[in-house]
Amino acid sequence: MKSNADYVSKRCHAIDASGIRKVFDLAAKMKDPINLSIGLPDFDVPEVAKEAAIDAIRAGHNRYTQTQGIAPLRERLRSDLSNEIGRDCGEVMITSGVSGGLLLAIQSVIDPGDEAIFLDPYFVMYKHLVTMAGGVPVPVDSYPDFRFRAERVEKLITPKTKLLMLNSPSNPTGAVLSAEEIRSAVELAKKHDLLILSDEIYEPFLYDIDHAKHDLYSPAMIYEKTILLRGFSKSHAMTGWRLGYAAGPQEILQQMIKLQQYTFVCAPSPLQYAALKALDVSMRPAVDSYRKKRDIVYDTLSKKFDITKPTGAFYIFPAAPKGISASDFVSKAIEHNVLIIPGNVFSTQDTHFRISYATTDEKLKQGCDILCSLV
Ligand code: PMP
Repeated sequence: MKSNADYVSKRCHAIDASGIRKVFDLAAKMKDPINLSIGLPDFDVPEVAKEAAIDAIRAGHNRYTQTQGIAPLRERLRSDLSNEIGRDCGEVMITSGVSGGLLLAIQSVIDPGDEAIFLDPYFVMYKHLVTMAGGVPVPVDSYPDFRFRAERVEKLITPKTKLLMLNSPSNPTGAVLSAEEIRSAVELAKKHDLLILSDEIYEPFLYDIDHAKHDLYSPAMIYEKTILLRGFSKSHAMTGWRLGYAAGPQEILQQMIKLQQYTFVCAPSPLQYAALKALDVSMRPAVDSYRKKRDIVYDTLSKKFDITKPTGAFYIFPAAPKGISASDFVSKAIEHNVLIIPGNVFSTQDTHFRISYATTDEKLKQGCDILCSLV
């Protein structure tokens, strides 16, 4: 007779949750930790968006929406995005977070055996979502400075490679692709006929880009075969609202919408109305305060740690001190009440650790001082 565990699919066995679970188990035992592990902003959802959500619920927007999302939000996003990237961004759909968009995009394009290539360190979901689709995740070493090196990427491209996944600004490194790197990624994609999946969830947190000067910061600006993913979780601190959006070639977006119909059905209805209002709120002050936090953390830690200065998102990814693995250093930090994440959660290497600086300046300074004292 089968035990309950015998019913678990091979797919689940192929997915390992151990890295992050170990950190959370340790964290559960900590009393009032200095928590530098959280991947969400420390500010709250803008008041107008909260009011709009409550109004939408009262107005009866509580039923399923169209699978692809409500028309006014999709139209607004299509127009804003198209203006921003300087060409029609293609079809737009509202997803259940960028996670939802990632799942649908990967399921729509990856066949068993297809390879998806991305830089290592990478956002944790990429590897597992590709595996879930039967594909092969191919991480490309981007140490020590987390740059996109076309030669390294090209070496790992095979006839099975279908997707080039980019994440700028990056979680966990805070690295931002330069204009030249984007150009070389697009050239590579053109040469090998690859689709680009561009995860731009941290796009508002770009500290050195001048939007007004039309700096090149997204492959979607120059490559039509790009699925662009963005969302509200980080930009508007709405991680619990589960709202994101995808834009790109109609042939692929149509498939993503079809799959959404049979999985998520639609993104949360009243919150789509609230998101429309949130788009009118300037998040500039929040981003400026995060740039300052980046400076605090970089200025303090660079005295003791080997660090590449991040120019986006709200993460920094220093190397652990020489002679100690990142996991051991993280355990030591946790013993001293500072919660950080070992790099092996995001990488094939266990040499670095991730700090999220999305916390108060005071906690950040305290945490950085403790980390420095451990070297
Ligand atoms: N992509 C990246 C790079 C992320 O860091 C996250 C969240 N941590 C997501 C996608 C998913 O975000 P959400 O589903 O909340 O929109």
